Amino acid sequence: MNNKYKILIVEDESNIRSFVKTILETNGYQVLDSRTGTQAKMMFSSHCPDLIILDLGLPDFDGTEFIKEVRKSHSVPIIVLSARTQEEDKVQALDLGANDYVTKPFGTAELLARVRAALRNSRHGIDGEKEGNKPFVLRDLKIDYESRTVTMKHMSVKLTQTEFNIVALLSEHAGKVMTYSVIIQTIWGSSDTGSIKKLQVNMANIRKKLGIKPGSNQYISNELGVGYRMYNE
Ligand code: CA
Repeated sequence: MNNKYKILIVEDESNIRSFVKTILETNGYQVLDSRTGTQAKMMFSSHCPDLIILDLGLPDFDGTEFIKEVRKSHSVPIIVLSARTQEEDKVQALDLGANDYVTKPFGTAELLARVRAALRNSRHGIDGEKEGNKPFVLRDLKIDYESRTVTMKHMSVKLTQTEFNIVALLSEHAGKVMTYSVIIQTIWGSSDTGSIKKLQVNMANIRKKLGIKPGSNQYISNELGVGYRMYNE
């Protein structure tokens, strides 16, 4: 691989750190690794990595603090590594601007897919910025922002205004996990106890109209207890 991406791994558990490092190096990435948040901050400012893989439970401070720090000035993609016991932290990390998460234990293929998706996401411009108003195309799905129309296999898909807004939002952030709270805030402006239910009902209708089989993760993945993600490949 001639175009070497630089990836910073921040993880205090040495076995996981070296596992991730080996996988990435084997696949042609250049890797920097750090055991602590303090060291990671220094490495981040001196090496400007293309991607950060971040453990949330660090010895010196919480990984979410590092996300806040980075997001003050950078849109570099961040993939969070979280343990099952850190479910709430994971959602918080996404709300703070992390792009994605991988739950430990994770496999090689899964990690590499997330890395590719996050890098592709950043190549397509700053998160959330549309390239002009160019339609979003993913295999048979096409979303036209200007005419507010959706087609699947060249057939028009009739969505309600709210359903279109949800699909458009997810596609503008394709590759990134959008948490329930971020989607709800963006679409409805506020949230109440019924909001998640309302979102789920809309999503079920969207999937049905797009012809996505229930339970399948074609085009849109359902990140249980966290949110939704539109794929970008
Ligand atoms: Ca840890």
